[in-house]
Amino acid sequence: MIEVKNLSKFYGPTKAVENVSFTVGKGEILGLLGPNGAGKTTIMRILTGYFQPTSGSVKIAGFDVVEEPLEVKKRIGYMQEGQQGPALYYEMTVSSFLSFAAEIKGTPKKDRSQNILKAMELAGIKDVRHRIIGRLSSGYKQRVGLAQALLNDPEILILDEPTRGLDPKQIIEIRQLIKNMAGERTIILSSHILPEVSMTCGKIVIIDKGEKVAEDTQAELAKKLEGGDRVVVKIKGKPDAGEVTKEFKKIKNLKEVRVEAEGNSTRIEVVRSGSKDIREDLFATAVENNWIILEMKSSSLSLEEVFLRLTTREDV
Ligand code: ADP
Repeated sequence: MIEVKNLSKFYGPTKAVENVSFTVGKGEILGLLGPNGAGKTTIMRILTGYFQPTSGSVKIAGFDVVEEPLEVKKRIGYMQEGQQGPALYYEMTVSSFLSFAAEIKGTPKKDRSQNILKAMELAGIKDVRHRIIGRLSSGYKQRVGLAQALLNDPEILILDEPTRGLDPKQIIEIRQLIKNMAGERTIILSSHILPEVSMTCGKIVIIDKGEKVAEDTQAELAKKLEGGDRVVVKIKGKPDAGEVTKEFKKIKNLKEVRVEAEGNSTRIEVVRSGSKDIREDLFATAVENNWIILEMKSSSLSLEEVFLRLTTREDV
């Protein structure tokens, strides 16, 4: 349904997105995860035809976003992130804003009230239709943003940080709304926090500094790093930390080594990159150097740690 190929975007000399590719199947929910400034909004703006890519291509339901932007826009509902929440007209009432948005989107006059009613029902805002948007709670503002994106009954929804600024109860409600819409609609949402995408999305693409650093289902991301991926070794005494790091780095398939003194012993934490068990190699290295092992244990990384490691590039 959505096909992003080698997408790059530069703002003048500033790189915002570089060589990002991914696909989203019909009815899937894809999460774009990355810290602030990673390039998520830029990707979404290109997908929705607001920005032209510097290079690469995007196809939505078979239509190229640059060559056939109108066909693309017809099929997409976009909820943009503004300075204080979703991009809306805060002085308007909910229904007048939605009428205005429907007009802008080119909804034929005869279908407008029906479309607006349906969007309000889906977003759960019928009760507040006569209220001024600026006076609504942030949860309701978000729902108005969602209703606006749902006008014209789009096949694809692109939601920029749909739960930003909401309280935990509102977050649960919006998440549920989004989940209910998957299946018949294809959804891309962005977030800078991991629980958001791991709870809502079937597939996660992690973006950092404009580049894709991982793409997987949330289950696969977690599984990949399970099973003793990190090993902590404690050795007696306090040998030179630089020496310890150097010796342990000689082991193959080892991604990261951290050494710190802990009382009269030294704690060494290593993270492996492949699936091979490296405990024997750790043991051999300690023996070769006459370091006495007091303890060795392995544990898996949480998804939160995986994200942090991917986006802070602590590789050796
Ligand atoms: P995110 O949505 O992940 O926070 P953005 O796509 O907004 O990231 O930004 C990616 C990078 O592009 C950032 O370094 C940002 O400063 C830069 N950027 C975004 N919009 C513009 C713009 N209109 N002009 C220049 N630089 C921009």
